[in-house]
Amino acid sequence: MKITHIEHIGIAVKDMDEAIRHYEEVFGMKCYAVEEVAEQKVKTAFFQVGQTKIELLESTQADGPIGKFIEKKGEGIHHLAYAVEGIEDNLKDAEGKGVRLIDKAPRKGAEGLDIAFLHPKSTFGVLTELCEKKE
Ligand code: ZN
Repeated sequence: MKITHIEHIGIAVKDMDEAIRHYEEVFGMKCYAVEEVAEQKVKTAFFQVGQTKIELLESTQADGPIGKFIEKKGEGIHHLAYAVEGIEDNLKDAEGKGVRLIDKAPRKGAEGLDIAFLHPKSTFGVLTELCEKKE
């Protein structure tokens, strides 16, 4: 695989407005984008921290993946996203090495990135996202 850096860390929150206020007023970060990904039943908010971003995730429906996650585990870190070069090849490479894939092929995520998830059972309990920015 060819991982270049940590693209973002996804954090599941119950109340997006309250979380944004905390990140801005306590952590002194600036939310630069709020975006809804209807297909994933999620609203996202982004903060830049150096080369990495914090992605807050609020479920728009209780039966969405983030809603279910919070119900089971509560708020907290949901996934870790690596920026990669050549997402298709990275997926094939990972699968070839025995990693279980949630997404066999990349799909569109927030910020127009191509994204794909690896199964946490194959990655020591960490839901892992690969992403690539394609111009
Ligand atoms: Zn993500």
